[in-house]
Amino acid sequence: MSNFRIPFNRVDWITSSFLIGTALIALTAAPWYIINFEQTWFQWAMFIFMVPATAMSITLGYHRLFSHLSFKAKWPVKLFTLIFGACAFENSCLDWCTDHRTHHKHVDHDEDPYDISKGFFWAHMGWLMFKLRPEKPFDNVGDLLKDKMVMWQHKYVHWIALVVGLIMPAVLGGAYNALFTDLPVWQGALGGFLIGGVLRVVVVQHSTFFINSLCHTVGRQPYSTKHSARDSVLMAVCTFGEGYHNYHHEFQHDYRNGVKPWQWDPTKWTIWTLSKLGLTSNLRRVPDSKILLAEMGEARKRAEEKLAALNAANPTMTARAHLALSELCTKLEASYKELEHVVAEKLEVSKQTLVKWEKETHELVHFVKSLRWNPA
Ligand SMILES: [Zn+2]
Ligand SMILES: [Zn+2]
Repeated sequence: MSNFRIPFNRVDWITSSFLIGTALIALTAAPWYIINFEQTWFQWAMFIFMVPATAMSITLGYHRLFSHLSFKAKWPVKLFTLIFGACAFENSCLDWCTDHRTHHKHVDHDEDPYDISKGFFWAHMGWLMFKLRPEKPFDNVGDLLKDKMVMWQHKYVHWIALVVGLIMPAVLGGAYNALFTDLPVWQGALGGFLIGGVLRVVVVQHSTFFINSLCHTVGRQPYSTKHSARDSVLMAVCTFGEGYHNYHHEFQHDYRNGVKPWQWDPTKWTIWTLSKLGLTSNLRRVPDSKILLAEMGEARKRAEEKLAALNAANPTMTARAHLALSELCTKLEASYKELEHVVAEKLEVSKQTLVKWEKETHELVHFVKSLRWNPA
């Protein structure tokens, strides 16, 4: 965005000070404490518990449950994710969901709150630091406005965040030192606050922010190129499974983001495990045939573009590679038509046929990839 100007007169000072202040503490005071003071295992245990508890309350709760209604959950799951989601200091669930639903509806356009076309920093955290948009009308969260638990959390979110997210780790850290060690109480409290509180908040916040910035910048687009969202294993590891963002934008109501069985998606595994315990139900899955149709469509588009480019301007291309690509394209074209019919008519298709089509698609994707490196 060459004509994007920093609107200093519209800075949200409270949010900006919090984001910058916590990041500075995490980069200075937390390492100073870790280097200079003896820590107990308990302080690190709190960090190890609080990181997934708060991060997954965002991915599993705020995102997949409340924003996308991709499964149903019993009250203990809702209560846990609302309390620990508040501790991520990412605003109330209601605020988060209205922004997120707007993001999906207007992705990459001006109305998208974290529109990546306004730059990486804007999508990452800049959008939180400025008051540029009018007051939220909450017109896309009518279902949540009727949810008593969500509205309770919306009212008390800052208190919950402060008490459970920052004061509790400090109190527990101090109490552990008082009861089980000879170390000073203040030292345990400070460690709990810095490690289980502030450092943890910063780690979890940036893990979520990466979804809006890096997941719209880095990675592959196997399901759609209509939007900037991308799939990346590295991002999935950093974001508790949300890194398969290209899939997610294409099929936002699926409770899975990493849809393949081998993909790293701890949020999906947790939702599935909770369903076995009777705490979640109605897990929504997009049919395999529909997913494959999207993959095939993209593969076909890419191969055709490659073929056209080679036809136009690559005299070094051997006739053999050209012929192989044309043949693969023709074969896939026929399968694509058949699969399109299957999906449109909601017909049953055998697992074997799907596997065959999947193989064809991947063969084509790999062939196109190999041509990039070896055009002759
Ligand atoms: Zn997105
Ligand atoms: Zn989403």
